[in-house]
Amino acid sequence: MSDRTPLIAGNWKMNLNHLEAIAHVQKITFSLTDKDYEAVEVAVLPPFTDLRTLQTLVEHDKLKLKYGAQDLSAHDSGAYTGEISGAMLAKLRCSYVAVGHSERRQYHGETDELCNAKVKAAFKNDVTPILCVGEGLEVRKAGNQVAHTLAQIDGGLKDIPAEQAERIVIAYEPVWAIGTGEVATPEDAQEVCGAIRGRLAELYDQELADKVRIQYGGSVKPGNVAAIMAQPDVDGALVGGACLDADDFVKIVRFRD
Ligand code: PEP
Repeated sequence: MSDRTPLIAGNWKMNLNHLEAIAHVQKITFSLTDKDYEAVEVAVLPPFTDLRTLQTLVEHDKLKLKYGAQDLSAHDSGAYTGEISGAMLAKLRCSYVAVGHSERRQYHGETDELCNAKVKAAFKNDVTPILCVGEGLEVRKAGNQVAHTLAQIDGGLKDIPAEQAERIVIAYEPVWAIGTGEVATPEDAQEVCGAIRGRLAELYDQELADKVRIQYGGSVKPGNVAAIMAQPDVDGALVGGACLDADDFVKIVRFRD
């Protein structure tokens, strides 16, 4: 049993405006107890437009809930219309930011090189990146899921020093399992999460690899989370669809019950 605290994070994607966010967060945090927060770190990743609302709620009510963004710019500031910088996220006291979510890679053409620049921008501003990696269906069918995912790890972590890398969160999200209801088996999740930890040990060392939290993401639900979390190299879940239902999200946080 590792001493890594599991991180359960809800990726709201492009759902819930800032008013809906209030009701949703209140429902989640009303249910969660100190016991829950002791066992698991809980975070939500709402759209940018909800972040100020999250900050107000968390600070005013002294909530233990963490929050963060779904993306950030690789740049610090300047003529980058529509982009949000790491410094802006830090000012809103974001703890986390997702980098390279498969929907960013697929619909916005984000490459490993860009993800690497975003990981650097996040660390520069003391916001912890959640680097998302994972293979598509064709790669999985060809049996190349490990090699594909490790190449994304190599690219995303290029030139990241150990003192930053030990704080990163990796989310292994097989693209074929995201939003499809197709969940990877616990063994599928362990195969790749274990390989990711092995690669971290090669790139840095075993001590660092043992510190890094590796989440699984892809159609996680209350009914399947426990078996996935029981795998030795799975340290949390990145939850899409099911996190929009406050009761389901709380059940996922309580995966041990
Ligand atoms: C995600 O968006 O990161 C995700 C895992 O989505 P879902 O849980 O809906 O598959």
